[in-house]
Amino acid sequence: MPATRKQQAPAPNRKAEARASVLPTQNQYSSIEQALVDALAAYGVTGLAIRADGALHRFDSADKPKGNRNGWYVCPSLEVGVYGFWHTGEQHTIGIGGEIDPTAAAEARLAAQHAREQREAERRQQQDKTATQARRWWAAARAADSGHPYLAKKRLHPHGLRQRGNVLLVPLYFNGELVNLERIFPDGDKRPLFGGRAKGVAGLVGKLAGVSRVLVAEGWATAAALHEAMNVPVVVARNADNLEAVARRVRQRLPDEVAITIATDDDRFTDGNPGVSKARLAALAIGAKMLMPTFCEGCKRCTDFADVALCRKGETP
Ligand SMILES: [Zn+2]
Repeated sequence: MPATRKQQAPAPNRKAEARASVLPTQNQYSSIEQALVDALAAYGVTGLAIRADGALHRFDSADKPKGNRNGWYVCPSLEVGVYGFWHTGEQHTIGIGGEIDPTAAAEARLAAQHAREQREAERRQQQDKTATQARRWWAAARAADSGHPYLAKKRLHPHGLRQRGNVLLVPLYFNGELVNLERIFPDGDKRPLFGGRAKGVAGLVGKLAGVSRVLVAEGWATAAALHEAMNVPVVVARNADNLEAVARRVRQRLPDEVAITIATDDDRFTDGNPGVSKARLAALAIGAKMLMPTFCEGCKRCTDFADVALCRKGETP
């Protein structure tokens, strides 16, 4: 093992595979606190008062917005520290000098495992809390006003949405349970409630019972436009990154004879066209067909089925 410390540690990379390393230190430190201060400084994290008290501590990762609390460290002893970043899965072990002995390394592994378990438990707790809030809001909300600015602009029916103040609520389900709400604001901004489960969570326009064909699309408006045009139920995955997880769940939950089609957004003006590339992955994962929007000749605006529906009505998407 090379006895060099990483001098220029890279910023945590969102796409990086989960990594774990034991970095022998070249520098000799007088304390584990100082060793951690130095290690974290290489990630742009400064000004922390390190506490080597055996407990898990959180800090803001420098590559995420303030308050993200994505960084963590724990010192299982005064000889060794473990730190990492939740959003990248990156994890490192450091000692106060020289090689880390096997006992310290084992302590560090155990501490990191506890940190992960604690994080998981907190995440589930927050998801439960958000689901409870979502059910409360949903129960208290009124039927969506068909004249809501977003619906009016998109020229869509409410399809069972509800409304709280001037905010539209899209119910999001996991395993048949309401777990979150997507809020659509009058200006079209869309945000789920904080802390809810996200992966595999989906909305629905139309009804699934007894159908022979189901579409899976990204956004609610796209799903509603498709439903109005084709009269089939359309599952709302919310974004391209969630398409595959949602497609897999829909496939699991519906009988084999129900055909599933991935209706893609065509992000033709965006590098790498995430709409099409993620839809392709989702389609491959479950052996589904893809449905692509056909744009009007010369159109330089439309990227999804909802846009196309508006464009055809002579409106500006
Ligand atoms: Zn168009």
